[in-house]
Amino acid sequence: MTAKKIQKRLFGTNGVRGIAGKDLTPELVFTIGTALGHLRKGRIAVGRDTRTSGETLGKALKAGLLATGCTVYDCGILPTPALQYKVRQGYDGGAMITASHNPPEYNGVKIIEPDGTEMGDEETLQLEELIFGPVLPVTPWDRVGQEIQVPDSTERYIEGILRHFPGSPGRGMTVVADPGSGPACITTPKILEGLGCRVLTVNGVMDGTFPGRLPEPSAEGLRNLADLVRACGASFGVAHDGDADRAVFVDENGQFIEENAEFAIVAQNICRQKKGLVVTPVSSGQVIEETVRNEGCTIRYTPVGSIYVARTMRTLIANGEPVIFGGEGNGGLIFPDHQFCRDGGMTAAMMVSLLATSRKTLSELARELPERHIIKDKIAATKGAEILASLPLQFPGCRIDLTDGVKIFSKDAWALVRASGTEPIIRIIIDASSPEAGRALYQDLISRLKTIAG
Ligand code: MG
Repeated sequence: MTAKKIQKRLFGTNGVRGIAGKDLTPELVFTIGTALGHLRKGRIAVGRDTRTSGETLGKALKAGLLATGCTVYDCGILPTPALQYKVRQGYDGGAMITASHNPPEYNGVKIIEPDGTEMGDEETLQLEELIFGPVLPVTPWDRVGQEIQVPDSTERYIEGILRHFPGSPGRGMTVVADPGSGPACITTPKILEGLGCRVLTVNGVMDGTFPGRLPEPSAEGLRNLADLVRACGASFGVAHDGDADRAVFVDENGQFIEENAEFAIVAQNICRQKKGLVVTPVSSGQVIEETVRNEGCTIRYTPVGSIYVARTMRTLIANGEPVIFGGEGNGGLIFPDHQFCRDGGMTAAMMVSLLATSRKTLSELARELPERHIIKDKIAATKGAEILASLPLQFPGCRIDLTDGVKIFSKDAWALVRASGTEPIIRIIIDASSPEAGRALYQDLISRLKTIAG
């Protein structure tokens, strides 16, 4: 059972994204606001990340919602998962102005459903129909909406996370947080302090120009975090992307923990406490499946994209299946006991609790994981979809999975080949038990792709 992917016109896997003022104009965001107002009506919670274009675009979005008679609850600057937590407390929907991990000039809109999940494909298609259809009518003067400011919009979110970790598990632990000048400046240090940790920060002041590092928390961008972790003897460092739905880590030596390894470490801890299903996209590293299986649990795969993971988790639970954990291999982890979306603050808290109970360092936990070797590449291809359609025929003896793109399993490795929806390229991931097995499958795959492309 997996959700099937639908290609959309404006919205990608996680909302609309574009360069502010160029692709993503205030006019377009106003139209998105009116369309959302028509579709959802009622009480809509609105938030934004720290980008410089956020205030303008947020006002355009709110104008669209108000013009269609919605009551707007302005939550100000906050992490996406904090807005998702808020929306679940009795709103008819939400909208977040954010471009997540994209560079500072970008911005975007993520639409939140009343249950706190990101909007799924079918609802997004309805929304796009309204956006691209005839100009939407606005309400007359006596029925325009009202805007209400929500003070302390992150308070219950922080409390909601702390409730999962009683007894100050972080007591005696030093942690360095790098919110990357994003909205987690006002949440993650408080969460860590609430757990009893001593907290230091890097890039801990909100700033939409992102002076310290880019919103994508890459290993290169986290050198200051790594240096401070080593200098102060911290147990780990945690960094977020631009809207803090993802969290990545450096260990006590300042070494970056690859995100699939991060997932595996957290999954191992959860699987030792309860048995059940772990849900992740087909693109996630094999280290996750092997770790989950070693702990006597089962993995379920979905198409690539956090909404497919979140929706699949919800559906499985509705069918009585014991779903214990889920997420993506990019630091976007979903804790079903907390909420059905990626949550960077919750992930940071989980790391504190996990280290407190395991009595091992983060570098030790990473070293104990099954060893895997990943190759990522992209190749130019104008007819990606056609090439992918004939690719399985090139591997007649292999098990093939078509959940998203083409996943080919050989003895010691697998390859995932996907055509980009927006660019003329094919993306390749190879995941192998040894560097040799990875290279062999990679070369075999490239030669067969060339044969197909002629
Ligand atoms: Mg994000």
